[in-house]
Amino acid sequence: MTEKIKKITHCVWLREDLRVQDQEGFKQAQENHPDQSCIALYIFTPETWVLHDRSPQQIYFILENLKLISKKLENLNIPLKILNIKKYQQIPEALLKFCQTYQIQNIYAARNYGLDELNRDKHCDELLKNFNIKINFRNDFVFFPPHKILKPDGQIYKIFTAYKKAWIQKILGTPTELLIFNSSAHAVKPQAETGIFSDPIPSNISGFSCPQNQIYKNWVLSEEDLKNKFKNFIKYDLDDYSKNRDFPALNKNSRLSPYLAIGIINIRQILSLLMQEKSCGNFLDLLAQEGAEIFINELIWRDFYQMILFNFPRVSKHQPYLLATNQIHWSSDQNLFQSWCEGKTGFPIIDASMRCLNQTGFLHNRLRMIVAMFLSKILWIDWRWGEAYFMKNLIDGELGANNGGWQWCASTGTDSAPYFRIFSPLLQSQKFDPEGIFIREYLPELKNLDSKKIHDPDLDTRKKLGYPSPIVNYAVQRKWAIESFKKIKI
Ligand SMILES: Cc1cc2nc3c(=O)[nH]c(=O)nc-3n(C[C@H](O)[C@H](O)[C@H](O)COP(=O)(O)OP(=O)(O)OC[C@H]3O[C@@H](n4cnc5c(N)ncnc54)[C@H](O)[C@@H]3O)c2cc1C
Repeated sequence: MTEKIKKITHCVWLREDLRVQDQEGFKQAQENHPDQSCIALYIFTPETWVLHDRSPQQIYFILENLKLISKKLENLNIPLKILNIKKYQQIPEALLKFCQTYQIQNIYAARNYGLDELNRDKHCDELLKNFNIKINFRNDFVFFPPHKILKPDGQIYKIFTAYKKAWIQKILGTPTELLIFNSSAHAVKPQAETGIFSDPIPSNISGFSCPQNQIYKNWVLSEEDLKNKFKNFIKYDLDDYSKNRDFPALNKNSRLSPYLAIGIINIRQILSLLMQEKSCGNFLDLLAQEGAEIFINELIWRDFYQMILFNFPRVSKHQPYLLATNQIHWSSDQNLFQSWCEGKTGFPIIDASMRCLNQTGFLHNRLRMIVAMFLSKILWIDWRWGEAYFMKNLIDGELGANNGGWQWCASTGTDSAPYFRIFSPLLQSQKFDPEGIFIREYLPELKNLDSKKIHDPDLDTRKKLGYPSPIVNYAVQRKWAIESFKKIKI
């Protein structure tokens, strides 16, 4: 069958806003062109994804979500087309050809704030302009776009607490109807048939084969189920969030990050749901709710790191935020790095965490901090190796938060941990996994040890259980790291 194309004038280019509900792209497109039809587009660029260390787990997650979205859009007569090219640099030409084929004059797209993504958009915009095709960019990924929260003198915030204060001040001035919204008012409307077929969504993409593991399947939820999951979090876990959020074995965090990373849900929807479920008439009421302030604090960190990405493009180019830290001669000991990757360092909390990451594609925030500090400050391995390893293995891998998290831990970032703050794996383990429940789950060889011994078994026990001795002396390495940091002038 060949396509008999009826008049199409606009297209929603889906990126990290992979949803149909509360989808501002479709809303704008349908409002601006009420008499014309719309087409949706997603672009595969596997070569660039390799360059950006995108994980097979996340690509699998994207494909499964595209399948769900495509079905929903089909019911509304909106075809979802796929452009399968290699890299970002090829997008402008491919997009032009696509627009010419389908007579598209307007594209709706949500901004990303990484350097390559900003350049991609700039080049598309420049080329398409010459053909009278307009790209209408909007912010979707964060609550306030990076240039909207600035100091009174126009300078960029570099300290999180000050940024957060300004963020809250700004949101308090935001009309309530923009904060609490009714999803049905934003619903995408069905349209007349276009004569265009949706493209099939492949089950995998070469170079990104994800183990067909039930764990990854468990993450795939419809938008409705995801909202219900989040509502349950609000109902049962939010009040105690500040008390429980640092204890991995409790499983009391929202686990929203994989969805936020590709836009199955966005921060506006999250805040709106929080206000509705907590029956708050305004944002101040929400902040006063038990647990909510700390939870929102985490979401502001996410906005903060996107702002840093946008304003300091060097962090997208493997450069530290604090350039002085380029003086550090990081170790390139492959053996130590490999032990860390495989969870064979002889430090139980580190090994359990890394095996959890390898097996599930996810890691609790406290554990991300512990393993990142250990790699950078105790093994003295270049934090960028760890950053890349995380991206290659996380289902929620996202440049801003990942880079920000790593630079925070390595003390090379903006408003990061002071260089002398180095988490002790032993103390962190005893404090945040006191019964060793998390360790037991991922280090079955230690599962019969009591909750005192499990954090640091003696050498005889290790030998008997086939568990390695510590690969480094923590106290010696810590001292050395602090001395080394002291020598550089920041
Ligand atoms: C070294 C390191 C690497 C990280 N890499 C990523 C990454 O690639 N992708 C990612 O989404 N997050 C990353 N984080 C941040 C954080 O660990 C995860 O967002 C969080 O663990 C996700 O679990 P959750 O959704 O249950 O979080 P919750 O505790 O429920 O928090 C709610 C949301 O707030 C945001 N958030 C929470 N903590 C942070 C933070 N420290 N920085 C920025 N946003 C935050 C996330 O969007 C999260 O979903 C990293 C942190 C560190 C220390």
